[in-house]
This record gives sequence, C-alpha cells and structure tokens, in this order.
Amino acid sequence: MRGLKQIIESSDNIHTGIAAAPGIVIGKAYIYRKEILNINQDVIEDVENAIVLFRESLEKSKKELLKVFSVAKDQMGEKRAAIFEAQLMILDDPFLKSSIEERIRKEKRQPESIVHDEISKYQQMMKMAHESYMKERALDIDDIKNRIVKNLQKRRWESKISNDVIVVSDHITPADTILFTKFNVKGYITVYGGLTSHAAILARSLDLPAVLGVHKITEIIKTDDNVIIDGFHGLVYVNPTEKQIEFYTNKIKHLEEINASLAELHDKPAMTTDGHEIDLYANVDVSGEVHLVITNRAKGIGLYRTEQIIEELGEFPDEDQQTKIYSNLATRLYPQPLTIRAFDIGGDKVKFLDHEEANPFLGLRGVRLLLANPKLFREQIRAVLKASINKNILFMIPMISSIHEIIDSKNLIEECKKELTAEKIQFDKNIQIGIMVEVPSAAVMAQDFAELVDFVSIGTNDLIQYIMAVDRGNDVVAYLYQEFHPAIVRTINYIVHGSKRANCKVSICGEMAADTLAIPLLVGLDLDSFSISPAVLPTAKKIIRSFSYEKAKELANDCLQLNSQEKILKRIEQFFKENNIQRTRNIL
Ligand code: PEP
Ligand code: MG
Repeated sequence: MRGLKQIIESSDNIHTGIAAAPGIVIGKAYIYRKEILNINQDVIEDVENAIVLFRESLEKSKKELLKVFSVAKDQMGEKRAAIFEAQLMILDDPFLKSSIEERIRKEKRQPESIVHDEISKYQQMMKMAHESYMKERALDIDDIKNRIVKNLQKRRWESKISNDVIVVSDHITPADTILFTKFNVKGYITVYGGLTSHAAILARSLDLPAVLGVHKITEIIKTDDNVIIDGFHGLVYVNPTEKQIEFYTNKIKHLEEINASLAELHDKPAMTTDGHEIDLYANVDVSGEVHLVITNRAKGIGLYRTEQIIEELGEFPDEDQQTKIYSNLATRLYPQPLTIRAFDIGGDKVKFLDHEEANPFLGLRGVRLLLANPKLFREQIRAVLKASINKNILFMIPMISSIHEIIDSKNLIEECKKELTAEKIQFDKNIQIGIMVEVPSAAVMAQDFAELVDFVSIGTNDLIQYIMAVDRGNDVVAYLYQEFHPAIVRTINYIVHGSKRANCKVSICGEMAADTLAIPLLVGLDLDSFSISPAVLPTAKKIIRSFSYEKAKELANDCLQLNSQEKILKRIEQFFKENNIQRTRNIL
C-alpha cells in the first residue's frame, strides 16, 4: 500500500488546514451558507412597543438556546455543554439589556439595528484580546446576535440540511454543531476557526473528524462533490482519485479494528487481572495534544515539557505569557492534574548560551542552567504558582544530580511564594514539588532525594544515556542504547525501592514506558504510574489488563537476576507468549 507521503506528493486536489478533530471520513460535501441578514435601520415611532418586541425576542432566543443546551447535554455531557450556558449568560446580561433599551429610547431606531450594533461592539472587544481563545469566542457570539435579530424580524431560523454529509462552511457556531447532529453530519471543513474554537471542541466531543482554517475552501468545493477529511493530518481531498479513496478506505478499516478492541476499555481502569491499578498519565509537548489526553482518558498530564513553548514561540515566554499558558492548560484539564516540568534547556534541546559547550549533555542543562539564571527560574516558578489556584498543578525539576540543587530550588520556590503572598496573589500553598531522576547520581541517592520532595519521576530517556554512556541521538552507538540492559532494570528497581522507603510515589515518564514489551516488567518493578504519549495510552491499558500483578512480579524478579539484555528480552518474550498478549502498537 502506498504511504501518505506519496499520496500527498502526487496530488494537487489536496488542501491543508488545522487538524482540529481526529478521524477519517469519505463522503459528499454540503456547502452550508449562512443567510446574510438585512438589518432594518429605520426610525420608529412607537418606542414602548419596540421595547416589548425586543424583550419578547430575547425571551424567545433564550428558550431556543435552552433547547439547544439540553440537546447538547444529552449528546456530550454537562461539562462540554457548558459552552451554551455561557451563551445563555450573555442573553441574561442586565448591562447589555439595559444599554440596548436605553439606545432604543434615545435613538428611536429599529431594535434590530441596535441589537446588531451593541452585540457587534461586544464582539469587537473580544476580537481585540490577545488570547486566540477569546477571539474564537467572538465568532461564536454571531449565533446569539443573529438569533435575536431573526426573532425580531419574526423569521424562522433556517435549519435544514441534507443527511449524512460533510459540512463545508465559512464558520460554524456551537448551535450549528448541535443542529448538524440531527442530520447525522459526518465531519466539518471550515475557512475560519482554530484548535480552540467551539466548532473544534464540539467536533472532538462528538467524535467527528474536522479540518478547520482551510483557505477559500467554500469557493473550491461544491455541494455533492466527493470529499475526504483526514482529521489526523489536517488534510482535505476534493474529488479524490481512486488511489486516494483506496488508501483511506484501508486506513478507515484499520482504524475500526483498533478502535473496536480499544473502545470497550475506555472507561475501564488500567488494572491487572488481579486488581492492581496503574495510573496512566500523558506526556505533552505541545498544547495541541491536549485533546488526545482527554479523549484517551488519561488521569492527567504526567510531564509537560515547557521548553517546547520556547520552540513553539521562537522566544522565551515572559511571566505573564507563561501564567496564561499554564492556567489555560490547567483549566482545560481540571480536575485532572497537570505536572509542569521546569525548562529543561541545554543538552540537545533549546539553546540558551551564546557559546558552544564541548559536551552539552554534560554541561549547563536543566536545573543547573535554571539555578545559574535565577531570574529565568523565578519567572517560571511565579507563573506556575499563579496558575495553581485550582490546586491541580504539580511542579517538577529536571536533571537533578545533587542534593543542593533540590534545596536551592525549594528555597527559590519558597521565596517566590513569599513574594506572591506579599503581592496578595493567590496560589496553591501546598503545591507538590517533584524531581526527575534521570542522572545516575540521583538514582544512587534516590531515597535521600525522595525524602525532600513529594514525588519522583524516572526519566529513562536520559537515565539510559547517562548510565550506558551513550549519546541518545547518536546512531553509531545506538546499539548500546539498551532499555533492557540489566544495569537499567536494576537501577529502576533501586530508584523505586529507595523512593518508596521515603514514602514517595514513583512514576516513569521516559519512552520506555510506552514500549509495549517493557510494560509488564515496569508493573512488576512496582511503579505507581506511567506517563506516556497520549496516542499509546489505550494500547498500554489493554496490555496492563491482560496479565496479573503476581506474574509481573515474578517476571521482574527473574529479570533482576539476569546478566544481559538478550536474556532479559527472551524472558519477556516468554511472558508475552504465556499470557497470550499481542504486541500490537497503536499506529496513529
Ligand atoms: C527523560 O529523560 O526520560 C524524559 C522524560 O525527559 P526528556 O526526554 O524531555 O529529556
Ligand atoms: Mg530527560
């Protein structure tokens, strides 16, 4: 079968946009155009009658929205449907209502022109906000504005579209989305809208593939054209070729197979057959991945690599920018926890120094660089604290290798807490502080270090590189980068036991935890939780549910006695066979 790259390279019927909701769908397009409203600007004589009409139309709009709200609650649950509650609050805003009535009295103009004007002003204010989130909300308010105007004009809301189509539109409001569910719409393509738009949020809740922000797409596609949406890669195919249809039909079949076996596990815990539960968290590099954390039912985020923000923005975010980013993420996840890792700058990651270091991996990296640049560290600590008011943030320090780094970091955190208290800024006073154990010296000192913190997370990506003395990015010595090397297995065991003696929970957030082969061994080594890429969460859960903790402990004990990677791997293969576990990976 041809690969996606070939399919894309050989075609000019492909349009790209934002991959707003995952999934693939093939179907007929339906161009959904909003009527352009003619606003009557005429002068009126009977002001009191106009006020009555305005109030009636407001009530009618409210009733309609309440109906949409209740359908939304059925379709996607109370929490997601809160979008409509927010819209209802706008209709209830006494200030908006009184300013409209005041203007009708004063200007003696048709109420629809004043409603249009006032709500547009409201939207304009939101559009000027810096956060893309607020800008998106401004577009959604069109729905309320048009609803009141139509009710004032005593016209019916146009709400019919064909069944089973892919909707192509300039912009989709939340209420449109709910309307579409009645017609079994298969997916959306829009010209405007981003990842945080309600069209995107709702599409993800309703499990409908969506590609948004596709330039001029309503001018390119016509109703009844054949269309493919690839919501994983943000691709839209207009009148696809046979090859493209074949490629995506196979993909859909493959997805269905995976989903069928994983879907039944969605609401089940990651528990072994004898009742030992492992908490599965997600690693997040860019905020766009957060929807996967939610759809794949992670218990929260176990590792948020903040240095990626610098990559994304192309500059260091200041305290305010960071506060906004962290608050946003924590709110989206609430009540699930968000583990923010302090900037791990240096090594082969984001550059900070002007000069080259001879051995960057052994140089000024992670906590070393942060302590050497207290202004940078303080700004991040203050931002994390400020975002912690809902008490679902944990803070984690990378590259700890000596006890002084823990003490100095904690002192800085305490100083920042004092500053914020003096500034009367609220934060979580009991925010949990943890460390990454990813350097051999920290592994050896695990118990002593764990006594000073609230949690420990093992970073096997670095731990393997530093224990094996193998650059994690160097192909020439890649054969020595062995996650099943006895030294690695025994070190993990040592860290877990040391941390537990200090009453500390231990997690693992390196790639090793996402390796299906490693999962039973890590469960047997007694890790409390794993933090892995969200896309592999369902597969990891499936594996954990297919063996017993007792057998995993036996496996771990056996592996701890073996003296080579080959022998350990052989023992693990035997475990997979005996327990009849398939080694399929989630390949999205
Ligand atoms: C690790 O070292 O295992 C880890 C999770 O951190 P990073 O890959 O960001 O260095
Ligand atoms: Mg690391």
